[in-house]
Amino acid sequence: MNRIDFVSATLPARKRIALVAHDHCKERLLAWAERQKSKLEPHELLATGTTGLLLERRLKLPVECMISGPLGGDQQIGARIAERRIDMLVFFWDPFEPQPHDPDVKALLRVAAVWNIPLAANESSADYLLSSPLLDQAHTLSIPNYASYLADRQTADH
Ligand code: PGA
Repeated sequence: MNRIDFVSATLPARKRIALVAHDHCKERLLAWAERQKSKLEPHELLATGTTGLLLERRLKLPVECMISGPLGGDQQIGARIAERRIDMLVFFWDPFEPQPHDPDVKALLRVAAVWNIPLAANESSADYLLSSPLLDQAHTLSIPNYASYLADRQTADH
C-alpha cells in the first residue's frame, strides 16, 4: 500500500449529518437529538432506516432514510461518506452487544476515519461536535488525495 497524501477540502456550512443508533442505544440517541433539535434543524439529516423513522417521528423534522442497518444501511452511509456526500457522523454503536452486521459497523467507522469527517461515537462527543463553532460554518479539512493515489497505483502497475 502506498503512503496516502492529503489535499484540502471544504465542508459546507449546512452539514449533511448522518445519525445511526443500534437498538439498545436508540432511545439515548432520540433523547439527545430532541435536546439538540435547534442545533440539528438547520442541517440536512440522514439516518439508517429504523433510526431515521424514529427520529422523524420524535423531532418532526425531515430525515432521509437509508435501508435498515442490518440490511445494508450502514454500507449506504459509508458509500456516501466515500462520495463526500456526508459531512458528519453521529453513531451510537452498542459496545455491549455483538451485531449481526458487525463487519458493516467496522467498515462504517473505518471509512469515516479515512475521509476525516467529524465523528461522534457517544453522547458526550456528539455534544462537543454540536457545540463547535465549525458546525455552522464552512471549514477546511484534509482528505486523501485520490488523484495522486491513482497516479501512484498506475506507476506501481507498470
Ligand atoms: P437501524 O440501523 O437504524 O435500521 O436500526 C442501525 C444499525 O443497526 O446500524
